[in-house]
Amino acid sequence: MKRCPQCSHVYTDDLSFCLSDGTPLIGLLEDQDRPTVVRSGDRSATASQTGSGLWLKVLAVLAVLFFGFLVLAGIAAWVFWPVPTASNTNNNNGSNLASVTPTPVSTATPLPSPSPTIASNTDINADDLKRQQDELDRERKRLEEERRRLEEEKQRPPATPRPPPRFNDPGTTRITFRRGSVGHTVSSTVARQRSFVLRTLNGQYLSASVSSPGGCVTFRGGGSSTGFATRQGDSFLYVTNNCSDPSRFTLSVTVR
Ligand SMILES: [Zn+2]
Repeated sequence: MKRCPQCSHVYTDDLSFCLSDGTPLIGLLEDQDRPTVVRSGDRSATASQTGSGLWLKVLAVLAVLFFGFLVLAGIAAWVFWPVPTASNTNNNNGSNLASVTPTPVSTATPLPSPSPTIASNTDINADDLKRQQDELDRERKRLEEERRRLEEEKQRPPATPRPPPRFNDPGTTRITFRRGSVGHTVSSTVARQRSFVLRTLNGQYLSASVSSPGGCVTFRGGGSSTGFATRQGDSFLYVTNNCSDPSRFTLSVTVR
């Protein structure tokens, strides 16, 4: 409670000046007896004063509430309104503080140079990554092809019957002597049997010999040499391979 030193009216603490004469009010703590005296002396005045004090109290509470509402509204406006603006300008969904604060900083000169460097670095890294990825893909594809090739080769053994065809004996081979020569030598391979033919005259003598590693190849009927009198026309020679594998051989023929 407060008291007017001029007219001794007592007021509530929220008042600073006397409502009757405008004198600055003083606290009642100094003399406690006075308010009691004033109260008993002027009841109506005290009642009116307390009534106006109550109204002032209500007004003050209302003012505080209104001010609080204003503050809350301002905070709400600051929190909710800037969000779309920030996201529109920055295209950034981060917090408002984060999106708003960097903008002025980035406009400063020092930052633009770092940011391109960072961007190019990330570009280089991305390129490197892509190149390495491509290389990996290529390597993987190559390995895949190699694996497929090896698998095919593994499946080829069933096709090993192929080599025999490769050593299939050719048909009859014609032997011709060089002009003025009476002999000829043939070196070849035989799987089972080879036949040779040469033009001879009547009354000539043909002598032939065959040699082979391990003696696998002989004339038909056996023996590594043969000879007979020829007739006019084609004379035949047959060599046989007596081993399981195809064998090299050398055949020498002389006609006199
Ligand atoms: Zn007064």
